Amino acid sequence: MRIGVVGCAGRMGTTVLRQVLASGDLTLVGAVEREGAPAVGGDVGPLVGGGPMGITIGADPAPLFAEADAVIDFTTPETTTAFAALAAQGKTVHVVGTTGLGPEHEEALANAARHTAVVRAPNMSLGVNLLLALVERVAAALDDGFDIEVVEMHHRHKVDAPSGTALALGRAAATGRGVDFGTHAVLSREGQVGERRRGAIGFATLRGGDVVGEHTVLFAGPEERIELTHRAASRDIFARGALQAARWAHGRPPGLYGMRDVLGV
Ligand code: NAD
Repeated sequence: MRIGVVGCAGRMGTTVLRQVLASGDLTLVGAVEREGAPAVGGDVGPLVGGGPMGITIGADPAPLFAEADAVIDFTTPETTTAFAALAAQGKTVHVVGTTGLGPEHEEALANAARHTAVVRAPNMSLGVNLLLALVERVAAALDDGFDIEVVEMHHRHKVDAPSGTALALGRAAATGRGVDFGTHAVLSREGQVGERRRGAIGFATLRGGDVVGEHTVLFAGPEERIELTHRAASRDIFARGALQAARWAHGRPPGLYGMRDVLGV
């Protein structure tokens, strides 16, 4: 299977490159970075700590989407939106790990998914996707006498908040409880916010150091509390999930899929 990597010099891009090269069953056919990025024009080898491999990092994504069976994309919402159109055009599997997507970006992915298989997940790890399923079940079992709070921590470079995973966990809780996420979510608190609203799904965001990603969902009830936690020890878990998604989506009919489809959880 022919794989392309966009945003290849990024934290996730380099992790994905390393895993594609180590995979044995996947062939790296190209790698693309943002126009003007220092990596453009260089060879992918040094990005993964090796010597030259004869694959030059490009700035034009169009030929990559035309040539690859699947493109793995951990970039920015605007970039992912532009790439979705190329994926639709080339009928290329688009694996999207980018977070911070707004409604306009989601719409672009849904449009592309009419023409090709798009797998998108704010978190591609097996553990977090199991956690999503568990949170939904626990929320379904408990009434709103249990207050739900989602706490997350990430490294200091992360630009969106709360994390895409935290939002997905909040949505899973809302689904389990049978309530609308939009009207129950409290994404941040500051100043005289008043007492906690019954049934609210609260969020708290921590940023610092090199934390890869930690999420806890608390169900705080009278005299007891349940806490479900996932801690990512390395970015490899996300890259592994992305490669699994690419393999799974290869040959599937067009559609917008999630990691729960891929992992069957
Ligand atoms: P990063 O900033 O290290 O990497 C992003 C890369 O994309 C950069 O190298 C940047 O130059 C490149 N880029 C930007 N615009 C581009 C363009 N037009 N063309 C080609 N490349 C372009 O960020 P990161 O930590 O690797 O995270 C990237 C995204 O992935 C973020 O949204 C992050 O939240 C998300 N993420 C998702 C998961 C998951 O499992 N879904 C896991 C980790 C990170």
